[in-house]
Amino acid sequence: MARSVTRRHAEALHETLILIDGHNDHFMLKFARGEPYRFMKVHRRYHSDGPRLLKGGMTASFFMVGGHALDRSVALIERAHREIEDHPESLMLVTRTGDIRKAKRTGRLGVMLSWESGLALGNSLDVLHAAYRLGVRASTLTHNEGGTAFALQGTPSPFRYLTPRQRTAARRTAKGLTATGRDVVKEMNRMGMLVDVAHANDAAVEDIVELTSKPVVSTHGGVFACCPHARCSTDDQIRAIAATGGLLSIAFYDGFIAKPPAKATIDGIVDQIAHVADLVGIDHVGIGTDFDGLSDGVWPVVRTADRLPRLTEAMVRRGLSDAEIRKVWGGNYLRVLKATIG
Ligand SMILES: [Zn+2]
Repeated sequence: MARSVTRRHAEALHETLILIDGHNDHFMLKFARGEPYRFMKVHRRYHSDGPRLLKGGMTASFFMVGGHALDRSVALIERAHREIEDHPESLMLVTRTGDIRKAKRTGRLGVMLSWESGLALGNSLDVLHAAYRLGVRASTLTHNEGGTAFALQGTPSPFRYLTPRQRTAARRTAKGLTATGRDVVKEMNRMGMLVDVAHANDAAVEDIVELTSKPVVSTHGGVFACCPHARCSTDDQIRAIAATGGLLSIAFYDGFIAKPPAKATIDGIVDQIAHVADLVGIDHVGIGTDFDGLSDGVWPVVRTADRLPRLTEAMVRRGLSDAEIRKVWGGNYLRVLKATIG
């Protein structure tokens, strides 16, 4: 009885929510596999696609469209634009925060474009401006790379489980942003592109939060205190991100929710949301599914995009208020995007 009341409440609430996703790799994965997008067809091999994102109630997602090689990035962006143009009834490009409300009003999925690495810039801020003109509104500074040609941080980011002591030791030898990396952060602030600390090493995260004049986010990450992976944010980093006015988006990747052999669950996602809320308040946490961004054969904790209401139900069951759930799913991102992309 109680369970079905909870479910009905969650379903009714979910319908009214604006859902914003910090990171989806669907376009990139299909491009890497050499498959046509056909985004508005259901693809069961994938975690997400247009129809299932819409069914799950998604309002707007940041789709990763490159950042590594410039030619591939431009091709990815072009194909994303073509998908939007081919399906005006279902999709719309989001370049400003107001577009997200329009997507909700018109029952469409808002497509936001983001880069995941600064290698494609080739140290040129002109390329950054060109990417903005093509619709890119968020970018990380790295995709773990560092110290190589055109990398924007001095050493690579670790990608493994580590103890707090090992993490502190790794921080001591890490080199943060390069001179160009610093210029990129300042220019992103100025031009209205959201700065994403995901994948940056701990020294670079410190540099970014110190340098930025606008809120920054981690578009897809986790909480180190809950799951000791180097890609998850420490409590100090969460405080620093919150101090910029930004947020940490919790990813559905099981390896960021629980360290094997512990099993990741949807309640584990809610544990991480609750941890951030206890630490810095409910205004500084969001969602970044990382759908279609995991290694082959790995399924996220919320398995597919049509199952998003299950997370809403888990939050209701945990005792989060409707207003809190509204913030986690999209309200916080609306605030951050308003302050960054406008
Ligand atoms: Zn990533």
